[in-house]
Amino acid sequence: MGGDFSADQKRYLEGFVSGAQLARLRGPGAPAQAVPAEPKGPDAPSLKAMARTEGEGKKLCPEEKAKREENGLDAWPRMEAAAREGVYPKGPDILRWKYHGLFYVAPAQDSFMCRLRMPNGILTHWQVRGLADIAEIHGGGYADVTTRANLQIREIPATDGVILLEKLVDLGLTAKGSGGDNIRNVTGTPTAGIDPQELLDTRPYAKAWHHHILNTRTMYGLPRKFNVAFDGAGQIGALEDTNDIGFQAVEVLDGFGVAPGVWFRLALGGITGHKDFARDTGVILCPEDATKVADAIVRVFIDSGDRTDRKKARLKYVLDAWGFGKFLAAVEERLGAPFTRVPSEAVKPRPEADRMAHLGVRPQKQAGLNWIGIGVPVGRITAGQMRGLADIAQQLGDGDVRLTVWQNLILSGIPDARVAEAKAAIVALGLTAEADVLQAGIVACTGAAGCRFGNADTKATAKAIGAHCGPRVALDTPVNIHVTGCHNSCAQHYIGDIGLIGARVPINDEGDTVDGYTILVGGGFGTDAAIAQELFENVKAEDAPALVERLLSCWTARREGGETFAAF
Ligand code: SF4
Repeated sequence: MGGDFSADQKRYLEGFVSGAQLARLRGPGAPAQAVPAEPKGPDAPSLKAMARTEGEGKKLCPEEKAKREENGLDAWPRMEAAAREGVYPKGPDILRWKYHGLFYVAPAQDSFMCRLRMPNGILTHWQVRGLADIAEIHGGGYADVTTRANLQIREIPATDGVILLEKLVDLGLTAKGSGGDNIRNVTGTPTAGIDPQELLDTRPYAKAWHHHILNTRTMYGLPRKFNVAFDGAGQIGALEDTNDIGFQAVEVLDGFGVAPGVWFRLALGGITGHKDFARDTGVILCPEDATKVADAIVRVFIDSGDRTDRKKARLKYVLDAWGFGKFLAAVEERLGAPFTRVPSEAVKPRPEADRMAHLGVRPQKQAGLNWIGIGVPVGRITAGQMRGLADIAQQLGDGDVRLTVWQNLILSGIPDARVAEAKAAIVALGLTAEADVLQAGIVACTGAAGCRFGNADTKATAKAIGAHCGPRVALDTPVNIHVTGCHNSCAQHYIGDIGLIGARVPINDEGDTVDGYTILVGGGFGTDAAIAQELFENVKAEDAPALVERLLSCWTARREGGETFAAF
């Protein structure tokens, strides 16, 4: 094979390049992934954990019984049959279909939603173009960017769910395990590999973990969902401290008995919907060991997680019950080696994330190239906009389209000389490439318009807040406004400067209610991590924009110096 590769061929080859990079990191003598053989049948770890639970005289919750009856992964032939008949799943099958990424979202919408997975939130231009076609042919003609740097396609008829999943695989994508009691989309630093301040390019590690999950059946036997994120200390955070496992790139100093340089620090137990951030364990690990360590943590969780009460079935509750010492000892036993631990003073303070870096033009570490962060109000993007962005990425950038946890998109590799052209093309799509301080911080979950748990139409409220406050409040620094529809906290209301959680607001004594919110203030993340506190209850949705405006106006009028909203 001779000659140069075309730009498209280079994009295809990127996956191999990442793999080669990881292989080099693993070293010639290191095992690729020291993972136990996969036990089957009653020896499967999840089934043993269920048997042990019952052996202790406890009652499994209905979801565990359904999983014992049939693992969702094995439901594929029945899913094909249901698609041929044009019927949606019922009862426990609703959970099983989620193992393949299909969510039946009635009564909010009588259709499927498909949640994808993409390691580190990065797509190629041809994948985005293919997804636009899929969304148009089999869905509502749009996609939603999620708070896990992922995409969801909605309004998929019963007949189309399976063919949609097949087409994803044709595109080099998958939705497997994106729902149900599984390990969710793997997030990483959105500017990995291009960020001037990053300590580590997270892409190879996110990708390795992604493929490990996909190819390890035991990883589908958890008591409940599980989140893992890799943060390379770039300008845009991955919100890793809101995950069950957060791998944080840190620089370890000389003189503490370990090789100085970049390691991952291990944080565990984040679940902000339950008011907890991942806590530092004092453990550091070589980045190439991340998959092995995450695998061992998940296996200990499979053995020890609560299978009787869904509300207590997350890793946090094992850590609360056992303490970090006992849990880490169990992981070490499984790994067959002790962890490396260093005191906090051995770790250099991490570079701070910039709360505006996901919007507007920023120089990359590659001289003469830039990324452009594109505003996508409440994360919704049409198929036409997706195609347009794919064209810009291909013609003016490096071909990548990167998603962030702030529900927006980034195009990378734009040469200095073509930035103005790219911005004009973005604006022509009805999107913005400007760093709008108010829009930068607004995120919203799916809400009642598309999710049966929603108490309010969160995306409509978030848009209304933006439209109402935009002309009335002059912000010079971002304020994070997180609008979430229920206690599942998909938009993480507890970490917002201002958090809104959907509530049914009573309007008379006869039990009638309307969409509304409880409003919280004072949350934060990263170095400003804090759980927001309730300020107002029973705020009607129609009153929320004006109330948020009052909060923001009060802060801008009375703050002293550069006092942030959180500090106010
Ligand atoms: Fe649905 Fe609740 Fe999640 Fe919003 S927070 S998407 S309403 S489950």
